[in-house]
Amino acid sequence: MPVDKKQIIEKEKVVVDGIELTAEWNRMFEQRVVFDYDTTTLDKVTNVAEAESMGWCYQCGQCIPVCPVDNVGEYGPRKIFRNLQLGMDLFASDDLWQCTTCMNCLRVCPKEVNMIKIMPAIREQAVLEGNVPEELQKAFTNTFEYGNPLGESQKKRADWVQGAGVPVPIMKDIKRPVDVLWFVESYPAYHIRGKQASAALAKIFNKLGVDFGILGVEEKDTCDSQRLAGEMGLFEEFAEYNIKTLKKYKFRQLLVTDPHALNAFKKEYPKRGGEFDVIHYTTFLAPLLEKLNLTNSLNYKITFHDPCYLGRHNGEYEAPRKIINSLPGVELIEMGRCREQSYCCGGGGGGMWLDGFMSDHVSERLSENRVREAVKTGANVLAVCCPYEVSRFEDAVKSTGNEGKLMVKDIAELIVEAMGN
Ligand code: SF4
Ligand code: SF4
Repeated sequence: MPVDKKQIIEKEKVVVDGIELTAEWNRMFEQRVVFDYDTTTLDKVTNVAEAESMGWCYQCGQCIPVCPVDNVGEYGPRKIFRNLQLGMDLFASDDLWQCTTCMNCLRVCPKEVNMIKIMPAIREQAVLEGNVPEELQKAFTNTFEYGNPLGESQKKRADWVQGAGVPVPIMKDIKRPVDVLWFVESYPAYHIRGKQASAALAKIFNKLGVDFGILGVEEKDTCDSQRLAGEMGLFEEFAEYNIKTLKKYKFRQLLVTDPHALNAFKKEYPKRGGEFDVIHYTTFLAPLLEKLNLTNSLNYKITFHDPCYLGRHNGEYEAPRKIINSLPGVELIEMGRCREQSYCCGGGGGGMWLDGFMSDHVSERLSENRVREAVKTGANVLAVCCPYEVSRFEDAVKSTGNEGKLMVKDIAELIVEAMGN
């Protein structure tokens, strides 16, 4: 039962659940325990397993300037904690869906308030109660019904290989072990720009003579972003399916295009019996570039966006830069917010499917904020290596009026350009 602070301070006799609080207040005063706010809504959060650290915040404020959402709105762990003190019900608040789980706050928080655990845990409860923004629910439903958040037919998952221009072996057809099993993921399999990057990567593998195969129609979304957005049941089901499917085949290494898939295979699938030697395509290619004999000079000034789930979450900052610096005729210009301090494109943690919802809470999209920063460097190419980013940044280039000034290219596409013919 909430306590009336005014009554306590004035030392009127207050009885709650049979306890006389005037006496209790005197005891606390003597022990310097100050009873200054109602913790009901904060307790509701911290009582959820994995969300306990929300209560550790001591309001230092370090998280606010680094939170990409606060840069364009009013957000961040410190503000959430304060609003909880003031009675906000996080389970029913729009604050529940704004975090992209970019991890920048955890990087600086002296108390290790962990939004990467807090948000999925509270969202999971909201999802179970059916309290989910409509557009996010659509992505969940698509994933459940079609195996991917885009709502594309599962039968068409390998259709992109027909336009690749090079052979792309499919495991169930070739019926032999391979050195590298390439887990393509949904956006690289279906999205128009993702398919172009996938075709580029297939060309590079063929030129290098990589012995590889893909799962094709047997592959389903890893569901790491759905997990972070609170759909734990979907994640469990899809993880079980993908692990079982992968275990049918023999391969040395599992290669992923998508940093969110990297995160799932490195940190979540092993807990469910899916232990694979997983590698992001930039990490795989960085030491092999010399073999490609890149001769076509590109004449680009390139700036690079570190994906949150490749950099901060999984520690890979060097491989993409090594590749970019190996391209002939290229100058790499870093943005101010780079490497571990990198800004976020807004797509992580379910943000990919919440752009409409977020438009009510931010002055501009995170991707627009990032594109403006990229343009300021004087670069004419924004290089990316996460399939969420190509479409997000290309939209942002248009909406910020920077068409013709900045091109968005996947690193695999840049390598193929440098390969020439
Ligand atoms: S950095 Fe951590 S302790 Fe400081 S205000 Fe933010 S969440 Fe609280
Ligand atoms: S994880 Fe990123 S988006 Fe979420 S609160 Fe922390 S800094 Fe902000």
